[in-house]
Amino acid sequence: MQHLKNYINGELIAPLGTQYIDNYNPATGKVYSLIPDSDEKDVQLAYEAAAAAFPAWSLSPKEERSKLLMRIADLIDKNHEKLSRAESADNGKPIQLARTVDIPRAAANFRFYATGILHLSEEANIMENTAVNYTLNEPSGIAGCISPWNLPLYLFTWKIAPALAAGCTVVAKPSEITPMTAYLLSELCIEAGLPKGVLNIVHGYGHKVGAAITAHPGIPVISFTGGTKTGAEIARVAAPMFKKLSLELGGKNPNIIFADCDFEQMLKTTLHSSFSNQGEICLCGSRIFIERPLYEQFKKAFVEKTKELKAGNPADDKTRHGAIASKQHKEKILSYIALAKEEGGTILCGGQEVKVPGECAEGWFIEPTVIEGLSYTCRTNQEEIFGPVVTLTPFDTEEEALMYANSTQYGLAGIIWTQNLTRAHRVAQRLQSGIIWINCWLLRDLRTPFGGMKKSGVGREGGFEALRFFMEPKNVCIKLANSQ
Ligand code: NDP
Repeated sequence: MQHLKNYINGELIAPLGTQYIDNYNPATGKVYSLIPDSDEKDVQLAYEAAAAAFPAWSLSPKEERSKLLMRIADLIDKNHEKLSRAESADNGKPIQLARTVDIPRAAANFRFYATGILHLSEEANIMENTAVNYTLNEPSGIAGCISPWNLPLYLFTWKIAPALAAGCTVVAKPSEITPMTAYLLSELCIEAGLPKGVLNIVHGYGHKVGAAITAHPGIPVISFTGGTKTGAEIARVAAPMFKKLSLELGGKNPNIIFADCDFEQMLKTTLHSSFSNQGEICLCGSRIFIERPLYEQFKKAFVEKTKELKAGNPADDKTRHGAIASKQHKEKILSYIALAKEEGGTILCGGQEVKVPGECAEGWFIEPTVIEGLSYTCRTNQEEIFGPVVTLTPFDTEEEALMYANSTQYGLAGIIWTQNLTRAHRVAQRLQSGIIWINCWLLRDLRTPFGGMKKSGVGREGGFEALRFFMEPKNVCIKLANSQ
């Protein structure tokens, strides 16, 4: 059985406590490797390595940091198939998705920030005949990066790459549910020649490793992606220490479909926005609101297409619907389907755990599920399920659609389908979401601000904003010699 290791001070080492956690393949339900069950002592070791590496790394020329990050990106490309297979086995996602989305995006994250740092310019403000101000952006110190299990390497690198490019050194923790690609990344960092201590990866549980990173007084910046409840706990612990926080949290995203939309395009994309990665993407549109004249036509076509989406072995090239990432999460999703029934919902398709024959017979699979007949205020429509479950609700007016859409505590993403450009802009302006897609979904330009409002998060990732998050601006004011 493979024992994964922590990556601390440039070396792969066992956890100090020598305890390990079982790592499951969700498609087979079997343990296939062991993860370090690290604790605050391992975090302290990682912190010391990061602290020792900080002076040299933070003062190194941007070009040098850029070159190293580009090298890591190239190594991710070189190991594309190995990483795709590892991600699929660890998370349960279809290999095709890992190959086309997760792993290319991990390389893109490194390239984006490797080049981005070269283009970040300093600001100058001139007070005529009086003074010159210039603003330095200095790396904040040691950054804590904590990421979830749904897009493991994709989201892990989305934090690490800007932190390293900005000149911070890092103590990072992937989710203990999906540690494998973070472990493989540590091997690639060694191969790339990343100086020791610059990046440290500590594996283990959130309540031990994640909590130790958050509570560490020497780590002034925390970038976190995960659930809203965990985000609140991190904010509570970090606040008295005045840590800088970036929180990317949960969502319950509306997908508003007007009757004048391009039906075929909308149907195809809505299938993706509902069920990609088994619905385990924070940006999935789980509440679908359909203008009443289109409701029956949409329902019939959508349910038909959803039924074609069969669960299969994620390792199979043809599979488009894989396994749920953990047994516990599978139980949570099933409990929400039961709740939907209790709340008066009608299951139009799916709603069951499925068995995939062969080596996946013991795996954790749930059929893509479509539910109708629920009030927009019920728990099924208010709480994040984060699985292959969507609800359909008809609406009569734009005002009503907006009221439904904005009724939750979340505000991450929103999707609008209409050919009426004026209406598209109007609705986009009034939707309480940090990210809006009109007639598309998950079309990402890495320069744009990414994040949510309300309980979906604090701050934005992406573009120069992410680089600046890992930096402290320092203004220098020089009085002109001949001024009063
Ligand atoms: P969690 O909040 O449970 O966990 C996220 C990470 O935090 C994991 O590494 C976890 O470790 C760790 N963690 C848990 N408890 C603590 C703690 N007390 N202190 C510090 N770290 C801790 O989320 P999930 O992994 O279940 O991910 C799913 C959630 O992530 C969903 O709500 C989803 O919407 C959200 N998400 C948001 C995105 C966004 O961009 N807004 C993108 C993707 C997902 P461990 O795994 O050991 O519990």
